[in-house]
Amino acid sequence: MKTIAAVSTGVARPFRIQDIEIADPLADEVLVRIEAVGVCHTDLATKAAFPDGVPVVLGHEGAGVVERVGSDVTDVSPGDKVVISYASCGECTRCVSGRPAYCVKFVQLNTSGARLDGSATLSSEDGPVLGSFFGQSSFARYALTARRNAVVVDHGLDLPLAASFGCGIQTGAGTVINVLRPGPADSLVVFGLGGVGMAAIMAARNLGVERIIGVDLSESRRATALKVGATDVLDGADQNLLTILRERTGGGATHAFDTTGVPAVVRTAAQALDSLGTLVVVGLGPEVTFDVQDLIGGGKTVRGCIEGDADPQKLVPQLVEWQLAGRLPMEEIVRTFPFAEINEAVARSEDGSAIKPVLVFAG
Ligand SMILES: [Zn+2]
Ligand SMILES: [Zn+2]
Repeated sequence: MKTIAAVSTGVARPFRIQDIEIADPLADEVLVRIEAVGVCHTDLATKAAFPDGVPVVLGHEGAGVVERVGSDVTDVSPGDKVVISYASCGECTRCVSGRPAYCVKFVQLNTSGARLDGSATLSSEDGPVLGSFFGQSSFARYALTARRNAVVVDHGLDLPLAASFGCGIQTGAGTVINVLRPGPADSLVVFGLGGVGMAAIMAARNLGVERIIGVDLSESRRATALKVGATDVLDGADQNLLTILRERTGGGATHAFDTTGVPAVVRTAAQALDSLGTLVVVGLGPEVTFDVQDLIGGGKTVRGCIEGDADPQKLVPQLVEWQLAGRLPMEEIVRTFPFAEINEAVARSEDGSAIKPVLVFAG
């Protein structure tokens, strides 16, 4: 069938909204009428990484209403609301052990531009269009995804606020819930207050963590962090940042989270830890060097993670529950744009003025 999509053809060219053809769902797939889709940094990094002239439909924080289901899909029906997350195979040892973010077929499933069997989901009058981005390619009115990647959500859920539960919010909240696991008496320092950092703060607040410190260069983002659950905020440019962090955490933080990927920031995050503390890094950036003596002497842990180590079928329902209970102030960070204004949304993401841009379809 025909649908409209925002097609990317290279780093220097804006997204172009055009008609494309989308395939029928295979037996294990669902076709979703997208109502809202978040813009994530991974979309923009991928746009920049693809060769010029190759058409691709990005978008991996889609949410909408199921339109059609494949012949093997029995537990989802047309009319169900879904949030779509990343793709995983469901069969490898990682998937079977509940760690689908480390699926051995993650790269093929999420970034190859086609289904696992190599078949294409999208095409245009001019020829093939790469699709299946993060198992969805949801910068489009309709998206095809495997049943496994779609999380059925409550009909009362506001999809523009929940669209990014499938990636950015899952990454921040999942890192806190699944990896860092701070307790009420602990302290968490979050470096970088974009959508992922804000989600980490919201999750920590829901876990009752006593001291939640947000660090960012932007004054307005620091103000927003206080609204979503930070107990303290600090200017990342403060020359005495490390000293102040140690003071505010009683000698050092038990937990730290870096979303910036800036080497100097990552080093500060490790240094700000108390002994036996843990730092998780999710920001992509250049290589980082650490003071190994500090890591050894302090028994500190530094590790990375993807998608918050989350199984979307478990974590997204938790986020939905908090959202419906008024415990996830997404409205403080989401800024909606009509789908047709995708290039404006990207510009506001890149200049930092929109924390979590979300594209919405009218009607
Ligand atoms: Zn797998
Ligand atoms: Zn993402």
